[in-house]
Order: sequence, then C-alpha cells, then structure tokens
Amino acid sequence: KLSMRLERVAIHIPKGSILADIGSDHAYLPCYAVTNGLCDSAIAGEVVEGPYQSARKQVAMTGLGDKIEVRKGDGLEVLNPDEATCITIAGMGGTLISSILESGKAKLGKADRLILQPNVGAANVRSWLIENGWELCGEEILEEDGKIYEILIAKKGDPLRPYGVNKQTGLTFGPFLREQFSDIFIKKWQLEKKHLERIIEQLDESGRSGLETKRNELKSQISVIEEVLKG
Ligand code: SAM
Repeated sequence: KLSMRLERVAIHIPKGSILADIGSDHAYLPCYAVTNGLCDSAIAGEVVEGPYQSARKQVAMTGLGDKIEVRKGDGLEVLNPDEATCITIAGMGGTLISSILESGKAKLGKADRLILQPNVGAANVRSWLIENGWELCGEEILEEDGKIYEILIAKKGDPLRPYGVNKQTGLTFGPFLREQFSDIFIKKWQLEKKHLERIIEQLDESGRSGLETKRNELKSQISVIEEVLKG
C-alpha cells in the first residue's frame, strides 16, 4: 500500500499527464499513478544504482514495463526537453529539489504542473517557484509516522498571486497552509517555536559573549511564528 504522503502527491497529477517522477526510488509513485489511471505513462528517474534497480524491479513486478520507463541519471537530465507534462519530486530536502529544478530548467518546456514534497526547507522551493514563473496553486500538510510533510503544487502563471502583501511570511509558512490553518500546521509551528526557544536557552547556558545578534534573530523568528499562530 502506498504511503499517505505519496498518495496525496499523486492526487494532484492532472489526468492524462505524462509523468516524470524524479528521485523515484522504488517507483511506487509512478506505479500507483499509472495503475489508478492518474496518468497515461511515466518516467521514473533515479541517480543512484541501488534505488534505480529497485525501481526497475518494481515496474517489472507490476507488469507496467510498457507504460513506465525507468531511467538512470541526475535530476531532469533523464528527460527529453518536451517530454513530461507533470513532474513530481518527493521525499528530499527543499534545497535539493530547488537545485534539481534549477539545473533542469531546459527540460520543463512542456511541463504545466509541478508537485513537490520537500521534507524540510519548503521556503526554498517556494522561492524557486516565484523566481521561475511558477504559481503555487495548492498546498497540503500532513502527518505520517510522526513526521510532518508539506506538498506544494504549482502551475505556470502569476507567481506572486497567492502571496498578497507579506511575501516573506508566505514563503516561510506557505500562503495556502496559513489560510487553511489546520491542526497539523499549528502543531508544526508550535514544535518549531519550541525548537527555537531551546536554541536560545542553549545559547544563554553557553555563557559565551557576542551572541546577541543570533539571539535577536531567533527571538524575531519566534515572534513571527507567534503572530501567525494567532490565526
Ligand atoms: N521519491 C520517493 C519518495 O518520496 O518516497 C523516494 C525518496 S528518497 C528519500 C530520495 C531519492 O532521490 C533517493 O532514491 C535518491 O537516490 C534520489 N535522488 C537524490 N538526488 C537525486 C538526483 N539529483 N537525481 C535523481 N535522483 C536523486
């Protein structure tokens, strides 16, 4: 059975897409998407030999070899320039996701949907989208096995549309997630606030001098979180 995390990624694949799942590991996502008619065909990209072989095995085992091609290579380099219409990148840090998109820009010609699931550093991904003409059109946050995940969905459009006046807050918290203000969103930011408070305590206990700037920075991050948590 597919994880809830990947199921929620898959739900946003537009019908009839040609999907490219980059960093596919076992190719669970493309197998699920094709089996359930969410897309017509898919490419699973993997850069590491072990996961690449797992992906090949999984595709063969599910008998989807004529619909899913497993390709070995770095990021979007496995794609032809006008091939995929929907790209999923899940289960990595936001910085890595952004750098994969940045180095693979030339392969995004035909893509009209990106579904990105950063484990950490979602703000990085939001910045990349803004700088590259992609409009965030939805966001999800969910908890599974004690971890909290964010999913960012983007289409070509007006990248600033979802942000309103306070772009910086939107980048950090996610304009849709902030609007939804779900229990998991609240939990995530309460945890983050506690984490920052703990860092301040450790700074204070260290008794070192010259930490005022760092301390103030953390304090101001905490007060932004408190402001957002007021709803
Ligand atoms: N996408 C799957 C998921 O969400 O469950 C697998 C996530 S797994 C933690 C990350 C995978 O991305 C690993 O298999 C890793 O080898 C692959 N990966 C990391 N950097 C990559 C890159 N630049 N190009 C292709 N694959 C990459």
